[in-house]
Order: sequence, then structure tokens, then C-alpha cells
Amino acid sequence: MSAIDKLIENTIRADVRAIGSYHVPDASGYIKLDAMENPYELPESLRRELGARLADAALNRYPVASYRTIKNKICAKLGVPAGYDVLLGNGSDELIAIMATAIARQDKRAVVMAPVPAFVMFSRSAQFAGADFVGVPVKADFSLDREAMLAAIEQHQPSLVFLAYPNNPTGNLFDAADMEAVIRALGDSGIAVVDEAYQPFAQKSFMGRLPDFPNLVVMRTLSKLGLAGIRLGYLSGNAELLAEFEKVRPPYNVNVLTQVAAEFALDHLEILDRQAESINAERSRLASELAALPGVEVFPSAANFISLRVPDADAVCARLHAEKVLIKNLSKMHKLLTNCIRVTVSTPEENTQFLTALKASL
Ligand SMILES: *Cc1c(COP(=O)(O)O)cnc(C)c1O
Repeated sequence: MSAIDKLIENTIRADVRAIGSYHVPDASGYIKLDAMENPYELPESLRRELGARLADAALNRYPVASYRTIKNKICAKLGVPAGYDVLLGNGSDELIAIMATAIARQDKRAVVMAPVPAFVMFSRSAQFAGADFVGVPVKADFSLDREAMLAAIEQHQPSLVFLAYPNNPTGNLFDAADMEAVIRALGDSGIAVVDEAYQPFAQKSFMGRLPDFPNLVVMRTLSKLGLAGIRLGYLSGNAELLAEFEKVRPPYNVNVLTQVAAEFALDHLEILDRQAESINAERSRLASELAALPGVEVFPSAANFISLRVPDADAVCARLHAEKVLIKNLSKMHKLLTNCIRVTVSTPEENTQFLTALKASL
């Protein structure tokens, strides 16, 4: 064994050594429909104006620690209820990690729970924080299994339950009454995190319900709206609870360039909203064209992606890859997703290229 192998074995946790790294395929030269990115950019004139604002940012200074300006703008523009504040993250990925770290007590193993299949960072963050993750399978139609969730809550007493609304990778919105039953069952022994990463495409939200449930927090991101590159997530909920999470947040976790770019984008929110509208219109077209294909089962989506079942997901993905189209093969992720694939809704041109390549692969 080499010296570096010995060093790693002596220092790095066994559970970390055992896992693979988060794989992001090289996308150069490909039509990228695997990561739920908005295909549109800001108009040229706005990009120049943004450039000038970024040039004025004080790169020699740490960010203003309170982040008051950007927080006020988020609260005012994005439907945060009056009297509620937000916590900012370097993407919502960081907020997930912050919450998992905050609940991972040391006297006994804490439990993080989510319906599965789910966003992979829920379980990863629980593991890294030193908490146990319990996944509760959804039903075959991807709806929330209310009875199973309530039984699992009773049995495992989770400190944190993630409910993605709409869910990734399935794309559907869970029934709101089922979600409420979960939030109520947690009561004062568990925090319910409604992850609204896809809210710009869903038109449904729990943000306005914050005053109804002290144990509810609502998490969102600017990523899927069209700003994945700047990495900004936000979380709202009870002020005292946010103050506890705030202690775990690394100071200055949101950099000044992100702050300037986000404020600028929020000043021009109507442009991003219009982009989301055209993606939603394309989602309807893509869904109906997919549903007309023999052997394809399309699942309802309230997000900027569509999940579908094909006769042979490996063969379809290989063929699309050869045609330079990148999508996500969900087949091995969970047994409910056998032969399922996930495709980001993009521009009309790219969606048509995907459809053509898919037809050829069937
Ligand atoms: C994409 C996604 C996120 C991560 O968003 P970032 O803000 O880019 O870190 C969080 N939750 C779900 C369900 C997602 O699909």
C-alpha cells in the first residue's frame, strides 16, 4: 500500500471512501437536457448593464454580513409572507447541508426523512452530517404514500423531513392535503422542509402557509429560474428557527458577485418569468408529443422537466448520446423508476431535436 493510500485509510471516513463522487458528465458539443437549466440568457442590453454593475462591486471587501439589501428584495419580489425573513445559501444545496448539520445531534443518531425517489442531496447531506436517512417510497403513480409516511414518522421520529414540491426526479406535485398531514404529524418534534426548487414552473406554493405551521420551512433557489451559475438559494420560516440555522451558516457564504447579479435579476424578474412561461408552454407541447409515441409513458410534470418511461432506457440513452443529446437515465436510481428517463424542457428547437432523436431510438 502506498503512503498516500495509508494516509487516506487512516484519516478519511470509511463511508466517504466507499461512495463515488457526484458525477457531472462533460457536456461540450452536446444539447444539454440533463440538469434542468433554463436555456435562455438575459437580453444583450441587460447583460451589458449587468457587466457594468459587476464592475462596480467591491471585490476587495467581504460581503456586507447582514445581506439586508438582497434579502429585502427576495422577500418583496418572491412572495415571502409579511414579517418573515430569509436565510441565504450558496445554492439550496448548501441550505440542505446547513439544516442537516444543525439537527445531527451527537447523543443519538438523528433521522432525516424524505419520500423516495428524491433529490440525491437530501440523503447525501444527512450522511455527511452524521444523521440517518430514511426514504419512504412513493406510490407507483409517484403520489405521496400518506399512510406509509405517517407510519415512518411514528417509528423513526425524524428531526427533518424533506418534501420536494414538485418532486425531483418525478416532476409531480404531491397532494397538498397529504403534505399537510405530514407537517401536522411532525408537530413540535420535526421540521418539515418544503423544497420548491421548481416553483417558477409550478404556480403552487407553501410559502403563504408559513404562518399556519411553526415547524414548516420553505426553501427555494434561483437556479431553475435561470441563474444556476450564480448559486443562490433561500429559505424562509419561523424567525427563531432561522436564527438557529443561521449559526451553522458559514459567514460570507454568498459572494458579492452573486449578490449583485441576483439583485439585478430580481429588478428584471418579469424577463425570467416570461422565460418560465415559454418553458411551461413547451412542456405542454413536449408532453403531448411524447404521449403520442408508442411504448412511451409520460408522467405529469409541474417542473421544467418531464419524466417518462420507455421500453429500454439504456438503449434510448445510448442512442441519444450518440446523437449528442444529454438526458438523465433514472432507471438505476430506484425500482419505481425502472426504464424511466428525465429530460429538461428547453427551447422549441432543442425540444424538437430531442423528440427526433428519441423517435429514432424507439
Ligand atoms: C436542483 C435542485 C436543488 C438544488 O438547487 P441549487 O440551488 O442549484 O443548489 C434543490 N432541490 C431540488 C429538488 C432540486 O431539483
